[in-house]
Amino acid sequence: MTERVPVVVIVGAGFGGLAAAKALRSAPVRIVLIDRTNHHLFQPLLYQVATSVLTPGQIAAPIRGILRTQRNTTTLLGDVTGVAKEQKLVFVNNADSDEVPVRYDYLILATGAGQSYFGHDEFKQYAPGLKTLADAVAIRNNILQAFEQAEAEEDPVLHRDLLTFVLVGAGPAGVEMAGAMAVLVRSSLRSEFRRIDPFRRCERGPKIYRCS
Ligand SMILES: Cc1cc2nc3c(=O)[nH]c(=O)nc-3n(C[C@H](O)[C@H](O)[C@H](O)COP(=O)(O)OP(=O)(O)OC[C@H]3O[C@@H](n4cnc5c(N)ncnc54)[C@H](O)[C@@H]3O)c2cc1C
Repeated sequence: MTERVPVVVIVGAGFGGLAAAKALRSAPVRIVLIDRTNHHLFQPLLYQVATSVLTPGQIAAPIRGILRTQRNTTTLLGDVTGVAKEQKLVFVNNADSDEVPVRYDYLILATGAGQSYFGHDEFKQYAPGLKTLADAVAIRNNILQAFEQAEAEEDPVLHRDLLTFVLVGAGPAGVEMAGAMAVLVRSSLRSEFRRIDPFRRCERGPKIYRCS
């Protein structure tokens, strides 16, 4: 009688989930790796996509491609909606079906974290999160659209409003984002516009950068 191989279900193919799958590559287990996207994302470079410095494909790699030689691992595209601990099941929504049960012997939940507005969810509509490729592309489009609107605007007084970007938070992400925006303006936008001067002065205050 052949012994049943334990099934390890890993939810999330970010840094954590992928590291867990790779660590188990030679273990006598069957791994089922489930992610709601088909790509592993290098989140630390999302701000470079949000400012057009990199393309989405440069910071995302297909999960299946990364694990193509890892024979004990199956990759599933789907959104895990729940866990039934007693029955050792996770439930997955995919393109065709809802609540598909997937059995596990061991479960690793590596779903990452969402952004927090620290009690100010009303900020969300003005300041979307920067956690996914879709977020980065949406921010990139908003930034480029602002420059287009300013170029189309004949009233120079309104240029200032259209080209004022406020970054709240001067931690690594905020400072990196400010730097990447400066690179975008200096490297390409500066020579491409005629009615506006996209290059604007930035001043450093005691705690933050203030642009005028
Ligand atoms: C803009 C930005 C800049 C950063 N810069 C740095 C840095 O400079 N240095 C540093 O050390 N860290 C940085 N980080 C943090 C770092 O990227 C995270 O700590 C890391 O990605 C966390 O890894 P994780 O595997 O826990 O989660 P994630 O990488 O978020 O992966 C979670 C995965 O789970 C999937 N998932 C989530 N929920 C479900 C579900 N219900 N069903 C199926 N799949 C699901 C997601 O699609 C995703 O693929 C940065 C993060 C961001 C957003």
